[in-house]
Amino acid sequence: MGYKCTRCKQKVEIDYEYTGIRCPYCGHRILVKERPTTIKPIKAE
Ligand SMILES: [Zn+2]
Repeated sequence: MGYKCTRCKQKVEIDYEYTGIRCPYCGHRILVKERPTTIKPIKAE
């Protein structure tokens, strides 16, 4: 499962059996899932 750090924008491979979710580059703990499909913005009018 690929994740992306919200701070440094690095792609992170997370292993849940490791110490948990944390960016190995900057230590940030908030990561978002990388999705294979691009989410298109929806106009709200
Ligand atoms: Zn980071």
